[in-house]
Amino acid sequence: MTHRTQVAIIGAGPAGLMLGHLLHRAGIDSVILETRSEAYVVERVRAGVLEQGTVDLMRESGLGERLDREGLRHEGLSIAFAGSRHRIDLSGLTGGRAITIYGQHEVVKDLIAARTAAGRPVHFNVERVVVDELASERPRVRYVQDDASHEILSDFIAGCDGSHGTCRSSMPAAHTQTFEHEYPFGWLGILAEAAPASDELIYSCHSRGFALFSMRSPTITRLYLQCAPDEDLSQWSDDRIWSELRVRLGTEDGWVPADGPILQKSVTGMRSVVTEPMRYGRLFLAGDAAHIVPPTGAKGLNLAMADVRRLASALVSFYVAADDTALNEYSGMALRRTWRAQRFSSWMTSALHRVEHASGFEHRRQLAELEYLVGSRAAMTSFAENYVG
Ligand SMILES: Cc1cc2nc3c(=O)[nH]c(=O)nc-3n(C[C@H](O)[C@H](O)[C@H](O)COP(=O)(O)OP(=O)(O)OC[C@H]3O[C@@H](n4cnc5c(N)ncnc54)[C@H](O)[C@@H]3O)c2cc1C
Repeated sequence: MTHRTQVAIIGAGPAGLMLGHLLHRAGIDSVILETRSEAYVVERVRAGVLEQGTVDLMRESGLGERLDREGLRHEGLSIAFAGSRHRIDLSGLTGGRAITIYGQHEVVKDLIAARTAAGRPVHFNVERVVVDELASERPRVRYVQDDASHEILSDFIAGCDGSHGTCRSSMPAAHTQTFEHEYPFGWLGILAEAAPASDELIYSCHSRGFALFSMRSPTITRLYLQCAPDEDLSQWSDDRIWSELRVRLGTEDGWVPADGPILQKSVTGMRSVVTEPMRYGRLFLAGDAAHIVPPTGAKGLNLAMADVRRLASALVSFYVAADDTALNEYSGMALRRTWRAQRFSSWMTSALHRVEHASGFEHRRQLAELEYLVGSRAAMTSFAENYVG
């Protein structure tokens, strides 16, 4: 069966869903294809820190109601090292900007509800997605759903299919360049049914390795431990995880994270990837399909949202004003923001993680870096500006 639409969107993560939502509000038709089931996409626990710009985008596009009710606004965070904890006043240093804790799966839930209400539901469980004729004015997408073959003829294809998707690899190799960096550590993350014992995030650089205290709601704590990129999760009993978290996050006055049943455990490796350019012909990449950042700076989801905000606005200019200037500028502008986020995420990762077998010199240098960060208003302002976005 052949379908026609203006924009074919590959992937129903935050990038694809938000792009479809923004286009719909502007009267532009789109079709969203997703290989996974709706339940999988909605339950997938990933990021949870929304920058001010992402919160503004949700509100401006009519999705602020539940976010404003359930999201947790944070005006500061703490950096812990050498036995002390130091608060950084994010709002005070950025003229009132803040971050909001609201799980990525909640954002996805809101976007799927909006898409369904718009009468253009997402096509879940599709298979064998192929994008083709990208350099023509009528690019094609072929896919299989319920054993039937389908084809979409569109004006544009948006590749929002994440780091393992098909769109990036469909761009001719001679036309693209990929920059990659692997970090020598991973994060063991847990989601626990426990009321957060602190109102704000705590990033800890401990001699046994980095740890992060965060939360997803008033009853769910999200915690991370630095580990090997290929850490064997079966070696980590719940007791071992909690005792390591207490050591790496606890303070001398007896504060430790509250524990509770662990709902989910995972190990994620850390890498930086950027593909340039983020466009080939009528195919535009957005979000993790084009770039991956280590999670330390909480930038992945926010970068994806910034990309599709820019792409949606460029597509509106094309359709409404017959002006393709913004489409032509999309890749360059999105990459500038991406590299700024890579710089910050990479700096934060190296400032807070312990490198195994690093020299004494390296450890002292790291300490000096953190002391400078929390002792200088200029350094804290730079940090806060980058963190809140
Ligand atoms: C395991 C993991 C944990 C993370 N944890 C954090 C964190 O703690 N903090 C943080 O800030 N960031 C985190 N991130 C990063 C953040 O979640 C991503 O940056 C964000 O999901 C990017 O959104 P996206 O829409 O670009 O991509 P995705 O969310 O990956 O969405 C892409 C979608 O495309 C679908 N897809 C793939 N191939 C195809 C195809 N061929 N056809 C159709 N659909 C396809 C996928 O199933 C997926 O639903 C994490 C990422 C991962 C992978």
